[in-house]
Amino acid sequence: MDLNALDRGRLTVCAAEIVAHARELAARGWMPATSGNFSMRLGDELMAVTASGVDKGRLCEADVIAVDLTGRPVVEGRQPSAEVALHAALYRRPGVGAVLHTHSPTQTLAGLLHAAEGRVRLCGYELLKALRGQHTHEATVDVPVVPNAQDTAALAAAADRAIDGSHAWGYLIAGHGMYAWGADLAEARRHLEALDFMLGCELELRRLRA
Ligand SMILES: [Zn+2]
Repeated sequence: MDLNALDRGRLTVCAAEIVAHARELAARGWMPATSGNFSMRLGDELMAVTASGVDKGRLCEADVIAVDLTGRPVVEGRQPSAEVALHAALYRRPGVGAVLHTHSPTQTLAGLLHAAEGRVRLCGYELLKALRGQHTHEATVDVPVVPNAQDTAALAAAADRAIDGSHAWGYLIAGHGMYAWGADLAEARRHLEALDFMLGCELELRRLRA
C-alpha cells in the first residue's frame, strides 16, 4: 500500500500538529528518555503516529509516520512506537481523532497508588468540566487504572475492557503513564492536562491528610 496524495497532505498537517504538542509536553518533563507517543487519525483505516525511540523534545515532522489500524507502516522504513497497538485499539472506537500518551511523574505515581482499586475517583473539581460531557464540579468521574504489561496486545485488550462505560477520556497504566484521547488533538490535550492536574491534586491531598 502507498499513501495517496490526499493522505500524504493530511499526514503533513498532522505531523506539524503532533510535533508542536510533543515539544511543549516534553518541555514539561512529561516524556522523559524518549517515552510517550502521540497519534492522529488520518482516515477510516489509517493513523499518523510517532516513530519508535525518538526524543519527543526534538521530534521532527519526519518522525511522524502513517500506519494502518493494525500498526503496520504504510511505507516501509521507520517503525512506529512500540505501543502502537494501544493507539490502534482506541481508533477502533467511534469519534476518536487523536490520542496522547505521556509518562508524567503524577500519572506514573497515581497509577501505582491506585492499582489495587483499578480506578482513581475524581469529584468536586472545577476542572472536571474540561472533560467532554461534564457540566458541573459535582460530577464523579472514575479514571480506570490497568496493570502494566510488556505484551502490548494484552495491555491494549485490558485497557479496552477497562474504558467501556468510562467518561474519563483517559486511563492510567500503573507505574507507567496515561493515555488520553479526544475528537481532535486540542480536545485530547485538554483531557490530558485536566486529568493530570486533578490526579496531581489527589496525590497532594493524600500527602496532606497523611
Ligand atoms: Zn508508555
